[in-house]
Amino acid sequence: MAVVGKSAVVLGAGMVGVCVALHLQKSGYRVTLVDRKTPGMEASYGNAGLINRGSVFPLSLSDITHHLSGALLKNHPNVHVHLSQLPHYWHWLYYLLIGNSRSRYEASVKGLDSLFRHAVAEHKTLLAMSGGKQQLMEKGWLRLYRQEASFRAVQYQRDYYDRLGIRYDIFDPEGISELEPAITSGFCKGVLIRDTASLVDPSGVINGYVNTFQSSGGQFCQVSAENITRDSDGFLIETHGENIRGHIRGHIVVLALGSWSGELCEKLGYSFPMAAERGYHQQFQPSDAFQLSRPIHDVDGGYVMSPMNNGLRLTTGIELSARDAPPVSKQLYQASRNAREVFSLGNPVGAVWVGSRPSMPDGLPVIGEAPRHPGLWFAFGHGHAGVGTGAVTGRVISELISKARPVIDVSPFSPVRFVG
Ligand SMILES: Cc1cc2nc3c(=O)[nH]c(=O)nc-3n(C[C@H](O)[C@H](O)[C@H](O)COP(=O)(O)OP(=O)(O)OC[C@H]3O[C@@H](n4cnc5c(N)ncnc54)[C@H](O)[C@@H]3O)c2cc1C
Repeated sequence: MAVVGKSAVVLGAGMVGVCVALHLQKSGYRVTLVDRKTPGMEASYGNAGLINRGSVFPLSLSDITHHLSGALLKNHPNVHVHLSQLPHYWHWLYYLLIGNSRSRYEASVKGLDSLFRHAVAEHKTLLAMSGGKQQLMEKGWLRLYRQEASFRAVQYQRDYYDRLGIRYDIFDPEGISELEPAITSGFCKGVLIRDTASLVDPSGVINGYVNTFQSSGGQFCQVSAENITRDSDGFLIETHGENIRGHIRGHIVVLALGSWSGELCEKLGYSFPMAAERGYHQQFQPSDAFQLSRPIHDVDGGYVMSPMNNGLRLTTGIELSARDAPPVSKQLYQASRNAREVFSLGNPVGAVWVGSRPSMPDGLPVIGEAPRHPGLWFAFGHGHAGVGTGAVTGRVISELISKARPVIDVSPFSPVRFVG
């Protein structure tokens, strides 16, 4: 349903906010996109770029206890836990503990699967609009196992893939080398998850989306959103930018501030159990003899490596800490040391990057209308999957706002599961 003359304000120009803005614009809203930085400079900048059909598993209690034992010994880069920062994530951890049941896990897998079924196709639509088709690599995702035991330990994941129709193939060492000639040793098994694509320059994709949005009349405003109030005519956003305070008005508002969503929600009386699952990246410029043709995950080494336009990007697992704590070099150091055991990485290029995955304890984003503020919509908490599922989230939010039937069942993502 086309909407004429109505204004929408989208707070946050990460992958999620930008895709929401584009979709609302397509359905007829006059859209203002707001970010205190240039678009796509937080989590949506430094990720591994995967649109991974197989990313359907939330963290479970057994993951946490398994990882915690390793993490407390500080011997593995999969998860680093800073207990001194516990006050920053105890609320999230508490929900994760009390929600630990088979049925909740199944519900989260189902919810993530519903998003990922549309994730690649929805990005393709936006990439076609923005002239960025060449930014999408469709060669799957190769998970590599150093030990048979680790391969066997995640048989349950492959059982889920079978149930959900996620296509994959298993390779022995020779098959791995045929797929990726640069990998000649180190791994006993590889699992190629098909139907997975990746972006070779996530921030370039966002720039393309924003250019399309602006050239179709959308406004981008580089200010910080400080507060949201409601009056008879919609919403008033108090802003702060370059020492100037101001206001932006909108009939509807979409809050898509990633790991910063909690602060504005608290001001409105909604307390979400979010945590910042931080992660690091370092780019490398390997020799021409060592090139990957698709992203790989060294499961036992605890890192993902993705071919990007400007080199190979090594990304780390989870660091549970305060969102704004100073970076700690240990996790990235361990991950790159493990990578060097099997890869000729070459020299690091550029600075170490740290960012925050906006994580909800059930692994599902919050997508829906604020229970006590009709016209205010939430689109945050995409955890490990916001780059991949940003485009489908944009579509779903716009369908909900326009009162069209959403492409997926949105009930698993309702804010009401955490706030009334
Ligand atoms: C190491 C790492 C690897 C990852 N790999 C993948 C991957 O392969 N695939 C995948 O799908 N996901 C991946 N992720 C997760 C993904 O990056 C996030 O889920 C996604 O970027 C979240 O997008 P977002 O738009 O919600 O948040 P963000 O990109 O963080 O955007 C939030 C925006 O809000 C703005 N903002 C905050 N506060 C204010 C304010 N008060 N006023 C105005 N603006 C404000 C910020 O400046 C920012 O631009 C990874 C994350 C990390 C850290």
